[in-house]
Amino acid sequence: MQILDGKLVAQARRRELQAQIAEFKKQVGRAPGLAVLIVGENPASQVYVRNKVKSCADVGIESWHLERPATLTQAELHAEIDRLNADPKVDGILVQLPLPKTLDETAALERIDPRKDPDGLTSGNLGLLFAGRRRVAPCTPWGVMKILEHYGVETAGRRAVVVGRSNIVGKPMAQLLLEANATVTIAHSRTRDLRAELRRAEIAVIAAGQPRFVGGEDFSPDAVVIDVGIHRLGGEDGKAKLCGDVRFEGLKVRAATPVPGGVGPMTIQMLLENTLVLARLRGH
Ligand code: NAD
Repeated sequence: MQILDGKLVAQARRRELQAQIAEFKKQVGRAPGLAVLIVGENPASQVYVRNKVKSCADVGIESWHLERPATLTQAELHAEIDRLNADPKVDGILVQLPLPKTLDETAALERIDPRKDPDGLTSGNLGLLFAGRRRVAPCTPWGVMKILEHYGVETAGRRAVVVGRSNIVGKPMAQLLLEANATVTIAHSRTRDLRAELRRAEIAVIAAGQPRFVGGEDFSPDAVVIDVGIHRLGGEDGKAKLCGDVRFEGLKVRAATPVPGGVGPMTIQMLLENTLVLARLRGH
């Protein structure tokens, strides 16, 4: 079984991106800029945000890490976003999810100018994606496409099954595979016979958010299996261990992504790449 190494793909793309950003700076006279807004004190979010800020520095993107207390009101949050929408140095605005329960996530995301939305999650950008006029695609499914591309996995005419239908992963994933000419099925929590659907898949993307819930016997031996799930499970030694939606150890398929080291490292890389795409589109 071939291992599809997302960490390696992300590293290769990172070097390329560094060069592209150096070129952008030369032409435009400034660095691309990403503002990351975090509200409240979710420890996992803090780690993600720190990694994003560090990765920005690594490729030459200027970033601003804005921390606001959980007591922030919706109106104050919108005012912050409006200010960033108007700031000429800012090409991308990222509102770290989840927001505290007191805040409306959809309203906050929709407040972001779609031209400054490197996550591709505003309805403006999802609309363009589904209309076949993509500006930027959501980072995780876009990263999956780049893994398939890197390893030369043919998509045209192939039967692809996506498990999950969220706006962040499942739906845009299906659309991107469709754009790449696959024949796409979307399976979800109400699918009657998931195994039957999966057994037919030549490409299976699993994004159900259920730890280790599918495994070897669920796939055809020819399948390429992409595991989007990330779960932190307590190990026997008391240390948290990462696992995906797939029981990786029992897999006997053509190729598969591991967790960690598969889709995860690509997500942040695609965020950086999308920021440059938006900076270039703004063009000044
Ligand atoms: P979500 O909970 O919003 O959506 C899960 C989807 O899976 C739903 O549409 C549901 O219909 C479907 N589903 C749930 N149980 C199912 C079952 N038993 N059978 C079939 N379908 C089922 O989750 P999400 O935000 O789309 O994320 C999915 C997973 O991907 C999570 O584990 C999340 O942590 C992970 N994720 C990883 C990255 C990354 O960078 N690698 C990024 C985003 C999300």
